[in-house]
Amino acid sequence: MKIIYDRSACQGHNRCYMLAPELFDTDEEGYAIPLLDGDVPAELEQKARLAADNCPEFAITIEE
Ligand code: SF4
Repeated sequence: MKIIYDRSACQGHNRCYMLAPELFDTDEEGYAIPLLDGDVPAELEQKARLAADNCPEFAITIEE
């Protein structure tokens, strides 16, 4: 599984960071910074899906 992040869609709600701080940080303006560049470890896959499902801007998608 990989996390695909669309910076142009992100509006900086911080939901991803609140739901999955292991996977996302935020910059000084509140926009998401994905922390993983490669495959999501199995133990974090559920959190990755949670973040994607709760992003109101559909800026996070999951590639299986
Ligand atoms: S929840 Fe979505 S819109 Fe909000 S900071 Fe995260 S990626 Fe951006």
